[in-house]
Amino acid sequence: MNLILLGAPGAGKGTQAKMISEKYGIPQISTGDMLRDAVAKGTELGRKAKEYMDRGELVPDEVVIGIVKERLQQPDCRKGFILDGFPRTIAQAEALDKMLGDLGMKIDAVINVAVPEEEVVKRIVNRRTCRKCGAVYHLIYNPPKEDNKCDKCGGELYQRDDDREETVRERYRVYRENTEPLIDYYRRKGVLFDVDGTKDIKGVFQEIDEILKKFAD
Ligand code: ADP
Ligand code: ADP
Ligand code: ZN
Repeated sequence: MNLILLGAPGAGKGTQAKMISEKYGIPQISTGDMLRDAVAKGTELGRKAKEYMDRGELVPDEVVIGIVKERLQQPDCRKGFILDGFPRTIAQAEALDKMLGDLGMKIDAVINVAVPEEEVVKRIVNRRTCRKCGAVYHLIYNPPKEDNKCDKCGGELYQRDDDREETVRERYRVYRENTEPLIDYYRRKGVLFDVDGTKDIKGVFQEIDEILKKFAD
């Protein structure tokens, strides 16, 4: 089962991707997580990506396409994968079609998680992320059991540099301009499914799970 999760920053893609990954046993491929990892490690890729990420802009297509191409060739992707945060531009979507074609794979479903701007801003400014394992919390909607501590691994929770209100507004603008057109791109291909992302975390997962039942083998 090969999936794409589409949605504004803060729509809940990462949260849902982790739940799908656990239930269906297929890897979550988050370009945001991979880029943050590279920044934390101080690699060449990380140095290139950081300035764009801090400004809330997109990292250049060729950079992101390169890391996804490498990732999709790993053996664990053969039984399926969940793309979270990629593609974000038409050029990335076209590159993805090409690389999947070369690998003899295709996208089964694109889940569009719809959430209005004011709600995503509320979600992002109170998002906290685990430094160690990347688990995602929300101070009000999905708080950790103990303040500032990850339930899963005990790691320290932090606020991402780009999760402050000014940057969030810019990321939303970038989403509207560059990523929203992908909704029509995939609708025309007949693989798009819309989900009401304003429900609570479980409610959204139930909607997604209903759709996925058709594709799971
Ligand atoms: P969000 O939680 O807002 O969906 P992500 O963790 O997916 O954020 O991405 C954080 C930042 O990483 C983006 O603002 C962008 O700078 C960069 N990034 C992640 N994925 C991509 C991509 N597919 N194309 C370009 N830049 C990306
Ligand atoms: P994305 O990957 O799309 O940027 P996340 O999964 O990181 O989004 O979610 C953004 C924030 O909103 C996180 O703090 C998360 O805990 C919270 N969140 C996710 N889904 C929901 C939901 N359905 N209702 C309320 N809060 C949510
Ligand atoms: Zn953790």
